[in-house]
Amino acid sequence: MKLLEGKVAIVTGAARGIGAAIALKLAEQGAHIAFTYVSDSSADKAAVLEAEIKKLGVNAKAYKANAADFGACEILVNDVLTNFGAIDICVNNAGISKDNLLLRMTAEQWDEVMDTNLKSVFNMTKQVIRPMMKAKSGSIINMSSIIGIRGNAGQSSYAASKAGIIGFTKSIALELGSRNIRCNAIAPGFIETDMTHYLNEGEAGKAFLDKIPLGRFGKAEEIANTTLYLASELSSYVTGQVISACGGLNI
Ligand code: NAP
Repeated sequence: MKLLEGKVAIVTGAARGIGAAIALKLAEQGAHIAFTYVSDSSADKAAVLEAEIKKLGVNAKAYKANAADFGACEILVNDVLTNFGAIDICVNNAGISKDNLLLRMTAEQWDEVMDTNLKSVFNMTKQVIRPMMKAKSGSIINMSSIIGIRGNAGQSSYAASKAGIIGFTKSIALELGSRNIRCNAIAPGFIETDMTHYLNEGEAGKAFLDKIPLGRFGKAEEIANTTLYLASELSSYVTGQVISACGGLNI
């Protein structure tokens, strides 16, 4: 028996990077997968991933939906419920960074990061708790970051958005624990994806590597493994927690 046999999961921002690894990992364990992307340039990748997931013998559908837009999330969740019949697991993974020192940061850059990273988690959670409350069960997993715990020069908006996710996660766990809905966050360290391509370029990457006891950057699949744990009954007594998957990065 697979860990997520017959469950329905929705994963935001999953055409590439950590989200794609999560979608595949949950599907390998028997979950049907609805996933989103936002850029036209990711449409082909989303179609390839949808086909790859279907080959695992589960349902899959890619949706183009802006997680930062409340109305778009409402439409998305209604469409997923029509197509899949339930939502058991919600992984709020979509995120961006617009790094800049505060001195140079514009209000528009700040708003874009907060809307995409933090408001998106509110937008999606607000919608998925309806079917989860009816089913009296659910697991919500929010992608925070080690930067939301420790801060980082040049990443104040990103850090604030990811710290906000932690406060939101703990509050939702308190509000919905009695309904058997669990809500947890993951705080990845530095994971090799498009978002962190700069780590392979020169001194900045080396400086971070020196701070990681495991001596390497993480892989998207390693965050997918942590997500699988929180999505499944393996974590049935875990809620309101933040799991750092960061190679022991000194915080
Ligand atoms: P990535 O490779 O840049 O992928 C980001 C994904 O988010 C893409 O699929 C993108 O969609 C999607 N996305 C962005 N804005 C969106 C929106 N408004 N609506 C829907 N989807 C949107 O990033 P990643 O490294 O996989 O990061 C995934 C998550 O992990 C993010 O929340 C990030 O903050 C977090 N994280 C990453 C690291 C790391 O080291 N990589 C560390 C800690 C936390 P498109 O493909 O359509 O552009």
